[in-house]
Amino acid sequence: MIEVIEPATEEVLAEVPRAGADDVDAAVSRAREAFPAWRAIAPAERAARLHSLADALAAGQEELARLEARNAGKPICDARGEMDMVAATFRYYAGAPERLLGETIPVAGGQALTVREPLGVVGLIVPWNFPLLIASWKLAPALAAGNTVVLKPAELTPLTALKFEQIAAAAGIPDGVVNVVAGPGSVVGQRLVEHPDVAKIAFTGSTEVGRSIAAAAAQTIKRVTLELGGKSPNLVFGDADLEAAASSAPMAVFGNAGQDCCARSRILVQESVLDQFMSLLEHAVASVRVGDPLQDDTQMGPLISEGRREAVASFVNGDAPIAIRGHAPEGPGYWFPPTVLCPVDPASRLAREEIFGPVAAVIPFSDEEEAIRLANDTIYGLSGSIWTRDGARALRVARAIDTGVLSINSNTSVRVATPFGGFKQSGYGRELGPHALDAYTEVKSIYYATDG
Ligand code: NDP
Repeated sequence: MIEVIEPATEEVLAEVPRAGADDVDAAVSRAREAFPAWRAIAPAERAARLHSLADALAAGQEELARLEARNAGKPICDARGEMDMVAATFRYYAGAPERLLGETIPVAGGQALTVREPLGVVGLIVPWNFPLLIASWKLAPALAAGNTVVLKPAELTPLTALKFEQIAAAAGIPDGVVNVVAGPGSVVGQRLVEHPDVAKIAFTGSTEVGRSIAAAAAQTIKRVTLELGGKSPNLVFGDADLEAAASSAPMAVFGNAGQDCCARSRILVQESVLDQFMSLLEHAVASVRVGDPLQDDTQMGPLISEGRREAVASFVNGDAPIAIRGHAPEGPGYWFPPTVLCPVDPASRLAREEIFGPVAAVIPFSDEEEAIRLANDTIYGLSGSIWTRDGARALRVARAIDTGVLSINSNTSVRVATPFGGFKQSGYGRELGPHALDAYTEVKSIYYATDG
């Protein structure tokens, strides 16, 4: 059995059966059997089933949010927002089956046309930081395009995925179309990646595991999309609305206790306004409410595990230039206080490695050229923010930064209708928006000879 721990109390929240490689094989064969009928279902009917699923997810929102908040240790308000987006994601992709359009292409002697075909059985491997949310970004376009799926949640947070499997069945998704296997990545995840009947793996998690998945998938030429780590820059220019930049900077890195691949964990501040920015930031950090995830006004909960807390603490050792420290509860729970380090040497581990905890590194810069150079001085390229009142600079810098997602005078990265994904070692492929469907379909070109 898997003992599922509640990070805010360190107590056992639930026990669920631990799946093994045989369970993966059984799930893949169920998904394979269900595939021909699911791909053949009339597009409007597939759309209707996905709308029913979105309705059922919306109806179960509060129960799912509480389960996610307790299992992942995230504030209930965040969990509710995530469950809203889960339902909205299914609603958005319910529009897709009838809009998977092809092309006609002028050629000699006949007619050429393209159609989009589903891939078959798709394996989805997701992490513990946004368990059902990240799963929905993969599930909804995969199912809309006519694929069947095997979903592997992280062992730390399997509960909402298992609940989702029941909700999908009750909402009229046919048997075998959605299969959930909860078990260790090194066994269950690896078997999915190696399984010859799995056509594609969609993965979110660490760059290290992503690399091993890409290598293993090469054996069967599996399609792979990877959403990996990040060390995203938050650029604050001297001409920015400093109050807005400083008041929103804490939650851009401490949200989800910093366990967010989009966390703006490098705050790059123009030297001319550094002192002013730091004093505004200090007030903002002091007001972050850290505590019981089930309280409506909590903004930050505990880390996911003791291992994660130790990993984060290893960055904030004796030498770290601690400039601001927030509060965190004492006692049981994997708590870690919001922490701001300044000034951080751009060559140091603090500036280069993904900490994945509530720790921000402030790095001063002198001018626009240096800001761009520092922002790009990383193996990652997921997201970032630019704060300035100069519109031309905002667009110039946005074009110069090598990340898949950027926001200007805002710290948001994710919307149902817009593509999300990374440059460089943050991965490849795009989720969400119209682009995600490309990752769950193959283009087929058909030529029909018309000349007698
Ligand atoms: P992992 O990459 O190990 O886990 C992500 C998922 O992959 C989990 O479901 C895990 O299963 C599974 N997995 C692990 N090993 C394999 C494998 N060999 N084959 C197939 N699947 C596998 O992330 P961690 O939980 O270890 O976190 C480590 C670091 O990764 C974090 O500190 C952070 O830097 C980064 N990370 C980034 C995330 C993002 O959103 N981009 C999300 C999570 C982590 P299981 O856990 O059940 O063993």
